[in-house]
This record gives sequence, structure tokens and C-alpha cells, in this order.
Amino acid sequence: MENTRMKQMRRSNQSSGPALNCHDLPKYKLAKHALEPRPREADRLVRDQLLDEGNSRLNLATFCQTYMEPEAVELMKDTLEKNAIDKSEYPRTAEIENRCVNIIANLWHAPEAESFTGTSTIGSSEACMLAGLAMKFAWRKRAKANGLDLTAHQPNIVISAGYQVCWEKFCVYWDIDMHVVPMDDDHMSLNVDHVLDYVDDYTIGIVGIMGITYTGQYDDLARLDAVVERYNRTTKFPVYIHVDAASGGFYTPFIEPELKWDFRLNNVISINASGHKYGLVYPGVGWVIWRDQQYLPKELVFKVSYLGGELPTMAINFSHSASQLIGQYYNFIRFGFDGYREIQEKTHDVARYLAKSLTKLGGFSLINDGHELPLICYELTADSDREWTLYDLSDRLLMKGWQVPTYPLPKNMTDRVIQRIVVRADFGMSMAHDFIDDLTQAIHDLDQAHIVFHSDPQPKKYGFTH
Ligand SMILES: *Cc1c(COP(=O)(O)O)cnc(C)c1O
Repeated sequence: MENTRMKQMRRSNQSSGPALNCHDLPKYKLAKHALEPRPREADRLVRDQLLDEGNSRLNLATFCQTYMEPEAVELMKDTLEKNAIDKSEYPRTAEIENRCVNIIANLWHAPEAESFTGTSTIGSSEACMLAGLAMKFAWRKRAKANGLDLTAHQPNIVISAGYQVCWEKFCVYWDIDMHVVPMDDDHMSLNVDHVLDYVDDYTIGIVGIMGITYTGQYDDLARLDAVVERYNRTTKFPVYIHVDAASGGFYTPFIEPELKWDFRLNNVISINASGHKYGLVYPGVGWVIWRDQQYLPKELVFKVSYLGGELPTMAINFSHSASQLIGQYYNFIRFGFDGYREIQEKTHDVARYLAKSLTKLGGFSLINDGHELPLICYELTADSDREWTLYDLSDRLLMKGWQVPTYPLPKNMTDRVIQRIVVRADFGMSMAHDFIDDLTQAIHDLDQAHIVFHSDPQPKKYGFTH
């Protein structure tokens, strides 16, 4: 037996050729040729393509999460194949989503006397589409019942000029007029004194923003609620409020639990938030909750099969991985209320530290010092000697890897160019110290530099809308 094997092997080794294939495993003697390591060329090629991309941890432009605990990452990797829409194949996952909806509704004070409903989404954009559609359908029903001529005007939403682009998409996709309440130097969020000027019988709802993307400021939802309450007593066409809390939804409840912006206000009927912003999950997961099922018209709810029965779902997307919502549930049970509060407080402290350091450095005038969302934004003070702009400063910081966006403020204020730093949980105090050192150096370098002036710099915009 042994002999024949040896012979066979000798024979196969005689055929001089390139590397052995897997049938010719050397068993008794060192093979002549090296085996190729398992080729991973596709992997290498794709990784090489991504080499010079920005480092996500140094990305100070985004609200989106750039760090999760290794355990969470493992869990999410292990659940990538689960399809969130297949409720009957993955009933436990469906239950996890349901628990998250309950946890979030509770966090936002959904009243016990009403029966809330909600869903996960891919992000706030999908959540806003659903909330907007619910407002449109509910308005149409009310308006029709009250004899309004539905063809006379296009329906509209009322929102401040600080809206995120998803609302523009919503209006374009679903034929809605956008009644934009302008912002100005004295009103850097929704101007509640004038909001009713933009409301009429065709208004499907008013959108309040908990955390304006540009500046981090909150709309005054409590005052808006009072204004709407009074208005609704005078009309047969009531309006209600949706809160776009993409960023604030998972931040404000921990930092300012007393602040009333959520379902504690009677006219707030729906709220959305991004799980992948201060919900601390990688992109993309979002949430939308209605305080009561009556605000989510039945036409928008579709049934999917679930354990031999049916489960109502509302979603624009169909198939997508469930791993993000499993990651969301992991965070909820891992951190609990106190854990989230601690994380957000640290984030808040870092934002305040940056604001103080910038004030100390001089030359900047702060628009948000981190007292609402944990971000700071600022413009340059007028200084005739300075030869550089915030765009130059962004470029300079990028040399050290820091991505810090510079952009003009929204309509009416586009002559004001600001820079914004969003602080997230993974931007700790020591990184903040490093950043301030680099910023100080960058300013020093720019002050010393001979800058060839581009006489009419085109305002650039990048990386600040998310
Ligand atoms: C980020 C953001 C959105 C969009 O959220 P996604 O989760 O990225 O889709 C909508 N509204 C506001 C106020 C935002 O900050």
C-alpha cells in the first residue's frame, strides 16, 4: 500500500508544472513549488480603491455614527443576511423591531391613553416620507369631509428655511408645495410669531425641527404647539405638527429631559429620528412613531405574512438587512437610559470645550456654542488684515486629516459663510485637544502665508447636510 502511494506521488511530482492543485497535496515529501496563497485579489483591489478616503473618525462634518463597540459590530456582521421585511422567516427580528418601537415611543412620552404605532426605516429620510404621506392622506380625508375643493390648490407643508433636503424631496416626489418660513439673523430657527402666515386650509402639517442641520438649533416646539392649539380652535381645517428629530430624537431626551418637544405636546402627532445619528448605530436605521393610529391612515399600511397570520407594515423600501435594527436593540440594552445619558453628556462637554477654545483663540464669532445639539458653528469676525477665508481653513485642516465643512447659511443669509463641527460620541476630549492644537497651527500657518486671492470665491458646499 505504502509503496504504491509513494510511486503515485513520485509520478505526479515528475510532471513539472506550476503550483500543485488541491488534488496533489504533498503528503510524504516537501513539494518543489510553492503554493500560491489563496488569491484575494478582488478584496485587495477594492480595499486599495478606498485607501485615500477620509478617516471617518476625523470626519467632523457628519451626524452619522462612525464608531460602534466591537461586540455590536460582531453581532451585526452575524445578522447581515436577515431580511427585515421577512417577518415570518425572522419573527424574532420582527419582535426586536417591535421592542425598539416601544422603547422609543416611551422615550418620547407617547401618551398611554392613545395607541401609538411606528416602524423602523432606512433613515430619517424614509421616516419623513412616511410621516409626510400620513399627514397628506389624513389631511385629504379631513378636508374632503369638510367640503374643501381639493383641486383648487396643491396641498402644502410649512417648515423653516433650515429644513434638511429630505423635505424638498418629499415635496417634489408627492406634489406638495413647500411653504418656507424664512430664517434671518434674529430667527435662526422656525419663526413662531409668523408661522401662521404660511398656514392655510391646504396645509397638511407643520414640520418642526429638533436640531437644524445647519446650525444645531432647536425650533421652539412648545410655543409652536400653543400657537397651533389656538389656531385649531378657530378653524374646521386643523393642522398638526410633525417633529423632524433626526438628530435631537436620541439626544435631547437625555440632555434636556425637561424640555417639552415631543408627544407631551398635544399637537405633535408624529416624530422621526435617525438611529444612525445619536441613536449610536452605523447607517442606516431610522424610526418614525405616530402618537395614535388614527394619524396613520390605513391606506398606507400593508400587511405582510407573519407566523401564519399577518403583520401591518409601513415602509417605502421592501428588502433590507435587519442588522442595523438589531444593532439598535443591542445599544438600547447595552447602555440603558443612564448609559445613553453619560455618552451624550460627554459629547456635550466636548462641544462646549471646543466652543470655549474657539472663543479663546479669537477671530471667530459663534452661532451655536453646543448648547443645543452638540455642535459648534461659527463665522469669522470682520478683520481687514486677514487674507484667508473659512474655506482656506477647511483645506488647511484637511492636511491633518480633519474634515470640517464650510458653507453658506440658508436663503436670506447666504452671504454668511460658516464652519461647523459636529461632535459625536467617538470624538473624545483628547481628540478635541489635538484638534484645537491643529486648528491653532492652521491659523498660524494661514496668517503667515501669502495667499493669492481668488477675487470672487464661489461658495462651496460639501458634507454638511447629514
Ligand atoms: C440627517 C437629517 C435628515 C436625514 O436623515 P437620514 O437619516 O440621513 O436620512 C433629516 N432631517 C434632519 C433634520 C437631519 O438632520
